[in-house]
Amino acid sequence: MSKRNFKDIQDGTKAVWAGEKESLAYNATQVPVVLSVAYNYDDVDEWQEVAIGNKPGHIYNRMTNPTVQAFEEKVRILEGAEEAIAFSSGMAAISSTLYTFLRPGDRVISVKDTYGGTNKIFTEFLPNIDVDVTLCNTGNHEEIEAEVAKGCKVLYLESPTNPTMKITDIERMVRAAKSMGALVIIDNTFATPINQNPIQLEVDIVIHSATKFLSGHADALGGVVCGSKELMKRVYHYREINGATMDPWSAYLILRGMKTLKLRVRQQEKSAMEIAKYLQKQKLVEAVYYPGLETHPHHHIAKKQMKGFGGILSFVLKDEMEAIKILLPKLQYANKAGNLGAVETIYGPARTTSHVECTLEERKALGIPEGLVRISVGIEDTEDLISDLEQAFSLLESQLPVNSSK
Ligand SMILES: *Cc1c(COP(=O)(O)O)cnc(C)c1O
Repeated sequence: MSKRNFKDIQDGTKAVWAGEKESLAYNATQVPVVLSVAYNYDDVDEWQEVAIGNKPGHIYNRMTNPTVQAFEEKVRILEGAEEAIAFSSGMAAISSTLYTFLRPGDRVISVKDTYGGTNKIFTEFLPNIDVDVTLCNTGNHEEIEAEVAKGCKVLYLESPTNPTMKITDIERMVRAAKSMGALVIIDNTFATPINQNPIQLEVDIVIHSATKFLSGHADALGGVVCGSKELMKRVYHYREINGATMDPWSAYLILRGMKTLKLRVRQQEKSAMEIAKYLQKQKLVEAVYYPGLETHPHHHIAKKQMKGFGGILSFVLKDEMEAIKILLPKLQYANKAGNLGAVETIYGPARTTSHVECTLEERKALGIPEGLVRISVGIEDTEDLISDLEQAFSLLESQLPVNSSK
């Protein structure tokens, strides 16, 4: 078979075929899970050539593994990057990337509502090694520009953000950072490569928690970092030595999940829009956050830089925890859990999910209301998800009369 060329090929086709080898042992059609930790070489010269990278091949699984490489290649092609490096989790990908590029005395600028774990790296671990961290108000572009203009090594972004779905104008931030020679890194987990390709907007490094939408089935942890060959050489070196590499079984599960990525995302965002509109009409709901709604303050930016608005939204219940504790158990076609991006719909309050690491005061300071519930919409039929909400809200209203709410 001639080598597959992905030029002018759509994302749905890439998700299925990218990274899949042209020929596999035994004419297998599926990428094998290679569990062998090491690889045998009788020819010491050949072994040496592979070990120093002059010849393709594998030496030891902490460095490279065929199954993990197939996953890296699929993500690389979907993100339009020169290189992709897989990690054991999204947090391993994020921390390893930050530790690759930041040294004591460097300055990093980010936003306040990055993923909870990322926020902890900024507030707890980077200050430990004397990295100067500035966290701006998410979505306040003028503030970020003013901080970047003072100089920084790295500008770290996430868009949309967890859990209030704020959007940052990527092109505008790249312009500001490039004028100061800063490296721009973005966590693209929520958007997925189906809806947002930051490398086309000249972002240097794109990171995913592969545990979420890429996998789609909530049964494997993983992370991935994409960028230029030059930058990824350094990220790879950090991983090969520090060791947070992806497990071949996880690589296989995520590869399998990724084949349906586009189908899943399109179904999830179709339902997310309907659910957002439904929630807006509920008396017990104080606010709904979804970038697809025209009432979202950054809808115009989302429309400009995203191909779709994604499968995550959140809403705020008026009676806060009291209402959450009544509503969530009544939902039948949803897990109440801490993950997102799966085929099943998932509900979770910020205090047990995205911001579990924060205290009540810290969540307040970050502008995360206690009544906030995040929904990661699954691939179930839209009508069923709406009916499930309808029955849960009518039971909630019978237990918490609308006029009694704050
Ligand atoms: C889950 C998540 C992470 C962390 O990924 P893990 O695979 O859980 O380590 C990072 N960023 C975002 C936006 C996430 O949703």
